[in-house]
Amino acid sequence: MHSDHQASSATSDRPATESEFLALKQFHSAGRGFWQEVPDKDWNDWKWQLRNRITTLAQLQKLLPSLTPEELAGTQLANHKLALAITPYFFNLIDPGNENCPIRRQIVPRIEETHTAPWEMSDPCGEDAHSPVPGLVHRYPDRVLFLVTDRCAAYCRYCTRSRLVSNASGYDFHPEFDKQIAYIESHPEIRDVLMSGGDPLLFSDEKIEYLLHRLRSIPHVEFLRIGTRIPIFLPQRITPELCAMLKQFHPLFISIHSNHPRELTTEARTALERLADAGIPLGNQSVLLSQVNDDVTTMRALVHKLLMCRVKPYYLYQCDLIKGSAHLRSSVEKGLQIIEQLRGHTSGYAVPTYVIDAPGGGGKVPISPGYVLSRNTDRLVIRNYEGKIFEYPEAREDAPTPVAAGPLTSTKLT
Ligand code: SF4
Repeated sequence: MHSDHQASSATSDRPATESEFLALKQFHSAGRGFWQEVPDKDWNDWKWQLRNRITTLAQLQKLLPSLTPEELAGTQLANHKLALAITPYFFNLIDPGNENCPIRRQIVPRIEETHTAPWEMSDPCGEDAHSPVPGLVHRYPDRVLFLVTDRCAAYCRYCTRSRLVSNASGYDFHPEFDKQIAYIESHPEIRDVLMSGGDPLLFSDEKIEYLLHRLRSIPHVEFLRIGTRIPIFLPQRITPELCAMLKQFHPLFISIHSNHPRELTTEARTALERLADAGIPLGNQSVLLSQVNDDVTTMRALVHKLLMCRVKPYYLYQCDLIKGSAHLRSSVEKGLQIIEQLRGHTSGYAVPTYVIDAPGGGGKVPISPGYVLSRNTDRLVIRNYEGKIFEYPEAREDAPTPVAAGPLTSTKLT
């Protein structure tokens, strides 16, 4: 284990120090941990990583003897709800001495996953209700979600699609690509297709190429996207061959999913640079998670590291009301505080849009600290990041044309 495992994630009541922030921003290799003897050829082979995932309680207990009673009980039940799977590479990011390790909280099951609050749902975004054919979600006017698999390299314990991914609860997801693509073909209003799952990059290069080729052949599909957590869970998958294949299908964007700066290792950075070098614009989606990233120090380090990896922080999601996620859900109050302390205090490119996916299928609703203090037909009163107040006159079509103060050359343009 490398030294930054000991760096604070600033989840205590004590404010993080500048040196803790700088430690979080460092890039480190995940290292080899328990797999020192594995030849490089195997370790760097994504299929080896998949074959050697930690998927059972016995494996987890052996590698993580400090398993708590809550984790032990949760893991015993995991395969009835959402499977346990962790790649050896990603496992090495866990701090075994810290039961609140932000990496561990995301992927090691806990018994709290079986506790369900009355407002929690198995399909909080109402995807199944907006699904004209299995595996295709058409919720917004001009774009669709094209779900191609229920498998991921590792399983996030707060997954909004946990009803479906890993098939632990018997959803039995079997998308029929021909039917999904036929729907897109017959709906000319669809100009944007987001391929997701599960994780599409778990497919072979040939299968991904086949699907992208079919989508690219539809004249009204302007824009393709892939949603994936592979660069974070399994960066070995981002091979030069994969990137060379993907670049045939531009405009193709990729949305990755990372939540904590420690996930951005040197291996992940290499994978992301490869994708960026293939001309693929990269965005990141984070979920606001209790004791993982719900403090400004961690989030600031994450967004800075993302930009260093050429990834634009795109969305910060309030955790969906998925069943059994209360122990991981942070408050909207904290989310707003984080955005407040990023906006204006750091590069605009680093600030994600904070959204709540409206429960039941209302779509993403942006949530922002209140910068507009009042607004009427004549003016807005706004405040900036420092709390200073400004007035802005509203532009009105019926307003008299202002009289020129003098020749343009004397006008100060700042
Ligand atoms: S990678 Fe995405 S789809 Fe897979 S378990 Fe995590 S959140 Fe769910």
